Amino acid sequence: NLSEKLERSFKLLKGQGKITEINVAETLKEVRRALLDADVNFKIAKTFTEAVKEKALGQDVLTAVKPQQMMVKIVHDELTDLMGGVSTDINIKANPSIILIAGLQGSGKTTFSGKLANLLKTKRGKKPMLVAGDVYRPAAINQLQVLGEQIGVPVFTQEGSKNPVQIAKDAIRDAKQKGCDVVIIDTAGRLAVDEEMMNEISAVKKAVDPHEILFVVDSMTGQDAVNTAKEFNDRLDFDGVVLTKLDGDTRGGAALSIRSVVNKPIKFVGTGEKMDALDVFHPSRMADRILGMGDIVSLVERAQEQFDAEEARKLQKKLQKNQFDFNDFLSQIQQIKKMGSLKDLASMIPGMGKAIKDMDFDDDAFKGIEAIIFSMTPDERANPAIINGSRRKRIAAGSGTSIQEVNRLLKQFEDTRKIMKMAGQGKNLTRALAGMQP
Ligand code: GDP
Ligand code: MG
Repeated sequence: NLSEKLERSFKLLKGQGKITEINVAETLKEVRRALLDADVNFKIAKTFTEAVKEKALGQDVLTAVKPQQMMVKIVHDELTDLMGGVSTDINIKANPSIILIAGLQGSGKTTFSGKLANLLKTKRGKKPMLVAGDVYRPAAINQLQVLGEQIGVPVFTQEGSKNPVQIAKDAIRDAKQKGCDVVIIDTAGRLAVDEEMMNEISAVKKAVDPHEILFVVDSMTGQDAVNTAKEFNDRLDFDGVVLTKLDGDTRGGAALSIRSVVNKPIKFVGTGEKMDALDVFHPSRMADRILGMGDIVSLVERAQEQFDAEEARKLQKKLQKNQFDFNDFLSQIQQIKKMGSLKDLASMIPGMGKAIKDMDFDDDAFKGIEAIIFSMTPDERANPAIINGSRRKRIAAGSGTSIQEVNRLLKQFEDTRKIMKMAGQGKNLTRALAGMQP
């Protein structure tokens, strides 16, 4: 799936200290391929990766964050932008507000009509009415009646009528009489776009002049969804898109492409067959879902807030020259502590969430380490090599720890230093520190 592919492509960046033209090119190639595999339109994938490249190039990689995490954030933000940036509400100001539901057969129009009525009733204090405008399948009328009963919303039907325009008009009159303030008109779809269906729904649009036309599309249909969206939009000039069946093993491609092809916002997503399985569409959350990489975005954001870039640069230099000492070590610990609890941090790392939950993570994990470092003289902190046996004894006594603990810290410090030297640029510092046990 898309998220796994992206995850793999980001791995290419591992071990790179700065985002450069060369290491970004490989990753972007993978990102583009992943998008294409997920049925994202070729042109969109291309534009998208170019935008990501522009943002990524020349970005300083914070010490606390690995380059691929920076890339994840950039890709995430671009995805969010591509899907419209923010949520867009439906227009229900008029009384009554007329909402017309369009889409292919089986896309989920009738189910969505029920869900929307339910949401407006329970969460927005509205008095909706459902209108059975699918005149071709008797079962469709019954389906809507069952849903209406379930959620306690009136359903307007005209048994035997084959005229959706008349049904819609009569329904609106009835709604006004009953004091309903939103009229949701469910319509008939076909298995594919055809003239008859388009003519019919265009006629309903013309007759009732809806405040909101929502195009319902099955998110499992991939690239087809985009083509269908385009055809419907050309005829109806709809106001928003509803992506259904997002609970299944869906490809994220549809959500990505539709917005940029028809330039209309996605407003809702359906996530199940039940009446409450409807969510307002949030571009940022959808990007999370597509990336599927845990809450890595907030991890990066928090790191950006807390880490002093200047200090990070200085540290990086020291690491390169292998001058990293206990003073730096201490300041790193303090930086990490500023970022929040260890458990919180660890749980934001993709794949770690579940594993961490049950683990006993001690937020005071660094206390012992700090105490030991505080008991060192400035000289010892700057030149750990001079810490001999008698100094170790003094430090242990001063910090209220044991010689074994002091030895362990010194050894861990040396190990960390070695790892840093090997890594060359020190970007794994946070991870190395977080992995240490006092
Ligand atoms: P219509 O022909 O466009 O009116 O489509 P329906 O509303 O009758 O839905 C077709 C099928 O898809 C039904 O079996 C629904 O239960 C199912 N369905 C609709 N929306 C969703 C959804 O968000 N998730 C899942 N899993 N199934 C859905
Ligand atoms: Mg239907």
